[in-house]
Amino acid sequence: MLPFARVTIIGLGLIGSSIARAVRVAMPTVRLTGYDADPDVRSVADRLQLCDDIAESGGTAVIDADLVILCVPVGAMGAAAADFAADLPAEAIVSDVGSSKAEVLRVLTEALPGTIVIPAHPVAGTERSGPEAGFASLFHKRWCIVTPPEGADAAAVERVAEFWRRLGADIEMMAPEHHDRVLAVTSHLPHLIAYTIVGTASDLEEVTQSEVIKYSAGGFRDFTRIAASDPTMWRDVFLTNKDAVLDMLQRFSEDLTALQRAIRLGKGEELFDHFSRTRAIRRGIIEQGQDDPAPDFGRSHD
Ligand code: NAP
Repeated sequence: MLPFARVTIIGLGLIGSSIARAVRVAMPTVRLTGYDADPDVRSVADRLQLCDDIAESGGTAVIDADLVILCVPVGAMGAAAADFAADLPAEAIVSDVGSSKAEVLRVLTEALPGTIVIPAHPVAGTERSGPEAGFASLFHKRWCIVTPPEGADAAAVERVAEFWRRLGADIEMMAPEHHDRVLAVTSHLPHLIAYTIVGTASDLEEVTQSEVIKYSAGGFRDFTRIAASDPTMWRDVFLTNKDAVLDMLQRFSEDLTALQRAIRLGKGEELFDHFSRTRAIRRGIIEQGQDDPAPDFGRSHD
């Protein structure tokens, strides 16, 4: 049996439009309704026939939904939920796809008192945004971390998990705070580092812009892909996962200082050992199918 029959997606950008496309493929009988605050996005979604209906307001979008998924930037979750709160059916389950979880759970619970809220985070994405950037296979063999609040209704948690399984994702359950610490180190800190390096390179006075671009295959290029990620989304991630990110940043700075010292003191063995350890981590990621072993990672090879 399908976990939900009438699904509403609020926010039809990369993630929302990918969910719509994936639902069409995996659960074609589900009735899909979409809403986005941006009228241009609504008309693109209409043209692409992403959903059965594109509503003109959050309230009309949720009126008969049994699952509502918020796919807006994390800083907009509270306002987006408040927008449809009065029209939400009592038995509907609300979920989201936000990249930080504790703060999102807090604002959704506040905006939707008495509603079953089961947050989730599909750990899948690209550096692109908007309804045209989405694709149906985005969640295939990717993790979706479901972060129910303490004491959440077990049947509701299972329905949300089953929804994501049907879209091709593997499920992991975590407490929201634990999710935020894990993602701070695996996703948020790497983005911050990429944003920093790309900024630093472009500010260098003695190296020209054309040299930065020309020799980018030396490593810089892979950081530029991450640093091209959506500014609104990432501003909100850092503001809503502040404590965990600052903690990981502190540890990172200490480790960076240790490497800096090893370079200054010519401690080759220390550097070699460190780089050997990190190489083994890369091997583990490939073995677990989380990246392509081809040297030009992150790009299409066909
Ligand atoms: P996106 O492509 O920018 O799409 C977000 C859409 O939501 C935009 O069309 C935006 O319109 C709309 N929106 C903003 N506020 C709204 C509101 N109050 N009501 C209705 N619609 C509203 O972003 P995305 O990459 O899909 O990200 C969506 C969520 O997924 C974020 O919470 C992000 O943290 C999470 N996520 C992203 C990735 C990724 O790699 N991108 C991966 C996993 C999870 P405007 O542009 O006009 O504001």
